[in-house]
Amino acid sequence: RIVYVNGDYLPEEEAKVSIFDRGFLMADGVYEVTSVLDGKLVDFDGHAKRLERSLKELDLVAPVTMDELLTIHRELVARNDLEEGGVYLQITRGAPADRDFVFPDPAETKATIVLFTQAKNLANSPAVQKGISVISIEDQRWARRDIKTVQLLYPSMGKMMAKAAGADDAWMVEDGQVTEGTSNNAYIVKGGKIITRQLSNDILHGITRAAVLRLAKEAQMEVEERGFTIEEAQQADEAFITSATTFVQPVVSIDGATIGKGEAGPVALRLREIYIDESRKKAI
Ligand code: PMP
Repeated sequence: RIVYVNGDYLPEEEAKVSIFDRGFLMADGVYEVTSVLDGKLVDFDGHAKRLERSLKELDLVAPVTMDELLTIHRELVARNDLEEGGVYLQITRGAPADRDFVFPDPAETKATIVLFTQAKNLANSPAVQKGISVISIEDQRWARRDIKTVQLLYPSMGKMMAKAAGADDAWMVEDGQVTEGTSNNAYIVKGGKIITRQLSNDILHGITRAAVLRLAKEAQMEVEERGFTIEEAQQADEAFITSATTFVQPVVSIDGATIGKGEAGPVALRLREIYIDESRKKAI
């Protein structure tokens, strides 16, 4: 695989960053994952805008412009012959001379930027028809989940808890209501209405979420942005998740309770189809 690090395209074995990088020492960095369909980038603009917002919230200065970033994404897709999968991008505060809690002077530190591709079947994922199972866990992440930082330890622990329980993923719960999945936004469908938590600092503002809700409204589906409990979800007609790498993925069981008929629901499947169609058309 050819990867990108600080201006260079290199074989992955040759790509290196400093052990003093604040991303490594302090999880002081942000990331994005943009999906690739037919060798093209899905919603690059959405990801670039969220990246700029994450950077700003942390007073991080991007080492490249968003136009340059698009060029780097395309170059990596081309160099790796990537037809379907994702491009991972990470920007960390880089490597000051010494470890210190205080942010180093931006004039003296250059952020570290790293990109790599991952091939994956996205459009024809076998998990779609079958649906996935989720468990609920307490949301014990920090309170600025709207910033897409590389602090992914609790979500990793959540996936491990799900695995230990024989499930596929976990939905996190705070004050009795579902915030989101470990790496995706969470939805239920009741009486044809699509329900998902409203945007705030409590959840990541999913790029797929924004597109799917817009498409649902365009298709005259009813959308309600509000929190919901696990009990309400267990009684819903359908449940599903969205993210850049799963698109729309049906959920068929929550904490062991079967949702609806226990199979991929019609609303989720329809949204998935509309989303993939539009993404293929608009990918750049
Ligand atoms: N929530 C969390 C916690 C996530 O990690 C992700 C994926 N990175 C999402 C939601 C979905 O966001 P997107 O649709 O932009 O991939």
